[in-house]
Amino acid sequence: MTENELPLAPDDLTPEPKERQAHPFKTLKELLDHVSGKDLPPLSLEDNRQAEVLPFPFLAIVGQWEMKLALTLGLVNPNVGGILLVGPRGTAKTTAVRSLVDLLPQVERSACHYGCLPEDIEIGGLDAVCPDCAKKYGEGKSLTISDRVRLIELPLNAKLENVVGGLDERAAIHQRMRLRPGILAQADRNLLYIDEVNLLGDDVIDAILDAAAQGSYTLRRGPASATYRSRFLLIGSMNPEEGNLRPQIMDRFGLRVIVRGLDDAKERLEAYRRVQAYLNSPRQVIGSYAPDMAAVREELQETRQRLANVRISDRVAKEAIALTQKLGVDSLRAEITWFEAARAYAAANGRTRVKMTDLHAVAPMALRLRRSTFIDEYFEHQESEESELSKLIEPFARKNRKK
Ligand SMILES: [Zn+2]
Repeated sequence: MTENELPLAPDDLTPEPKERQAHPFKTLKELLDHVSGKDLPPLSLEDNRQAEVLPFPFLAIVGQWEMKLALTLGLVNPNVGGILLVGPRGTAKTTAVRSLVDLLPQVERSACHYGCLPEDIEIGGLDAVCPDCAKKYGEGKSLTISDRVRLIELPLNAKLENVVGGLDERAAIHQRMRLRPGILAQADRNLLYIDEVNLLGDDVIDAILDAAAQGSYTLRRGPASATYRSRFLLIGSMNPEEGNLRPQIMDRFGLRVIVRGLDDAKERLEAYRRVQAYLNSPRQVIGSYAPDMAAVREELQETRQRLANVRISDRVAKEAIALTQKLGVDSLRAEITWFEAARAYAAANGRTRVKMTDLHAVAPMALRLRRSTFIDEYFEHQESEESELSKLIEPFARKNRKK
């Protein structure tokens, strides 16, 4: 054996300086800290709110067609007014929501602390933005930066103060009155996801739904007030076993999907295989879906553009309104959501005219759980009526066959 092959020989305890320069770490602990990421700069609050860095591909989710459709329609047309996923644990609700981030285009965001945007100048002139941005605008520089859409997940224990913001304590120490924007402002042009939305305090959920409906919110603390942009796609999920959602809150979610576990044994096995492959090598699974995901992104972009030209004729709208009246759904929101979802569905089918079949396709998700169980009862009633009818008809049919 040569000396080189005996790393623990006394001579080797004092390695040559040359070898020490191979890496910048003086001790093993430094090296360990480095590989475990400890000496990396701490993540900012915003980074912490980002969900998985490598989301499970949307297209790799097995089954759950209605959930995928509802989420996709939400991406096409934010006017569907939020999506609520209702179902037990382990039905891929959270996975599906997180995977949406990969389907969204880059967005333009204000590069300024005050949130100045070029449209502020278009509407209110140079006085509508801060002096720095006014100067930048004058010099022909961009006020925005292109940025990825993020998934903002609302923490379960979020207080109203976290959600809308409040007084900036650091500024208060210096006897200055300054407001600090909350999660709703961070959610601007992002996805806002609330898991276990049924367990959230009423004040918090009211603030979120108001901001979602208006696209902005105003924060007032003492003499200070500020209005923040807050345009986001709201997605809530809940497990009905853990408590109900008040009907008034339920009514304000546009689309509602009942997410059930996969029934089919083959599908369950396929779902297991894909999750297993993803856990072993997320990058490989993401890579294998990448071309299809790129195609979907492109398709979504075209669909969003087409949406602006999609119309519902009076004839089709009247027929649909008659149906909601027949069902006893009295919430006007139901109709708005239903029509907007049908427009998105028609756009997704490459058309610019809404047909009755588009409305039928999205009717369950837009109309179910509207204050009452009318729609389910209606369908149940229809079903029992059908079976009664067939029972009545059966003897005649038999008689006819005998003839
Ligand atoms: Zn500015």
